[in-house]
Amino acid sequence: MKTKTIRKDKINIITLGCSKNLVDSENLITQLRGNDYQVAHERDDTDANVVIINTCGFIDLAKQESIDMIVEHAALKKAGRIEKLYVTGCLSQRYKSDLEQEIPEVDAYFGTLEMPALLARLDADYKHELLGERQITTLPHYAYLKISEGCSRSCSFCAIPLMRGQHISRPVEELVLEARNLARRGVKEIMLIAQELTYYGLDLYKKRELPRLLCALADVDGIEWIRLHYAYPGKFPLEILDVMADRPEICNYLDIPLQHASDPVLAAMRRQITRDETRRLLGQIREKVPGIALRTTFLVGYPGETDSDFRALLDFVEEQQFERVGVFQYSHEENTRAFDADDDVPEVLKAERAQHLMEVQQEISVQKNEAKIGKVFKTLFDRKEGQYFIGRTEFDSPEVDNEVLVDAATNYVRIGDFAPVRITGAEAFDLYGEKQ
Ligand code: SF4
Repeated sequence: MKTKTIRKDKINIITLGCSKNLVDSENLITQLRGNDYQVAHERDDTDANVVIINTCGFIDLAKQESIDMIVEHAALKKAGRIEKLYVTGCLSQRYKSDLEQEIPEVDAYFGTLEMPALLARLDADYKHELLGERQITTLPHYAYLKISEGCSRSCSFCAIPLMRGQHISRPVEELVLEARNLARRGVKEIMLIAQELTYYGLDLYKKRELPRLLCALADVDGIEWIRLHYAYPGKFPLEILDVMADRPEICNYLDIPLQHASDPVLAAMRRQITRDETRRLLGQIREKVPGIALRTTFLVGYPGETDSDFRALLDFVEEQQFERVGVFQYSHEENTRAFDADDDVPEVLKAERAQHLMEVQQEISVQKNEAKIGKVFKTLFDRKEGQYFIGRTEFDSPEVDNEVLVDAATNYVRIGDFAPVRITGAEAFDLYGEKQ
C-alpha cells in the first residue's frame, strides 16, 4: 500500500519577472504539492521555513530587483527566520557561479531547466503525470499558456537566449490537454506566451504551426478568449491573421514587439525587418483584422541611436497609432552581440527619450479611448475595487492594458463573468462604462 509522506517543511515561492517565469513557478507549485508539500505563493504572512526565489535576469533593473530579493532572504536565513533558501530562474541560470560566491547563504542555485534537480534537493520527484495539470496563481478565470521555451532568434541586444536556450515548442496535443484542464477549472481566457510565438512548430514539426495550434485551442469548450503575446515581426506568418479573423475565440489583439523603426538601428539590432517592411506588415494586419488592437514595445538608447533615429521612431509611432506602447531603455548586457558596441547614449538621454515616447503615445491612447465612448464591448470582470467593478475588453490583456470601470452602486456583475458594457467615459488608461 502506498503511504503519504508527512512533510514538515512549508515552502513559499517568490516569482520575479515576466509571465513566463510565473508559469514556471506554477509548474513548480504543482510538482511540490503533488509531492505533498504545503506551498504558498508570494505570501508575506506565511510561516514557511523554506523559500524559493524564481529570479529574472532580463535587464539591469530586473537583475537588481532579483539580487535585492535574494539578499533580503539571505538576511532572514542568517537571522534564523527561515531554514532553507533556494534560487532558480533566469538570473541564476546566467550568473550561477558569481552568485554562489557573492551570496553563499543561499543553499543552492538552479538554472531555468533544472526543476527536476531542485525537486530532488527537496526530496521530491518530478511527476510526469502532472504535465498539463498546472495550478494557476492568477485569477481563476484567466491563465497564461506557455507554448514554447527559449528563442532561436539572434537580436543583438537580447540576453534571453543565453538564459532560456534555443526555441523548444511544446506539442499541440500537450497544449490542448493543458487548455482543457484549465477550462475544466473555470478558466475562460488564455494568454498564449512564448519568447517568440511565430516560430512555434519550426523546431518540432519543421513548419510554422501556430495557426493549427490556434484552431485546436479555439475548439476547447469553455475557452472564450485566446490572446497572443510576443510575436516577432520578421517573416510574420500571415495565416495567423486568417484564423484570428475567422475564429471569435481568438481576440483581435496582437502583442508584436517592434523594438525600433529606424533602419540603421533595426539593422544593428539584427531584427530582420526594415521600417518599410514593418509598415507594410502593420497595414496587412489591420486590413485582415479590422479593429485589431496592436500592442508593441520599443527599445530606446541602443548604441549609436542618434537624434534622427529617435525622431524616426517618434514619427513612426505617430503615424501608426498603436493601441498600446511599452518602452524599455537599452541595458548593456554582457555576452550579447551589442555588448561589443559602445553604450554611448547617456542614461539620462535614454530616460528622456523613453519619457518623450510615452508622452506621444499617451495622447494617442486618450484619442483611441475617447473614440470608444458610446460603443458596447463584451467585458470580462476581474475584480471589485472600491466603488468599481473592474474588467477588460478583448482588446486588453491583464496587468498591462486598459481596464473598464463600472460603478458598483448602479451596476451588478459577477467576478469572472462576461457582460456587455457601454463605454461612457475615457482616460488614457481607463474606460468607464455602464452594464447593458
Ligand atoms: S525575438 Fe525576442 S526573445 Fe528572441 S532574441 Fe529577439 S528580443 Fe530576444
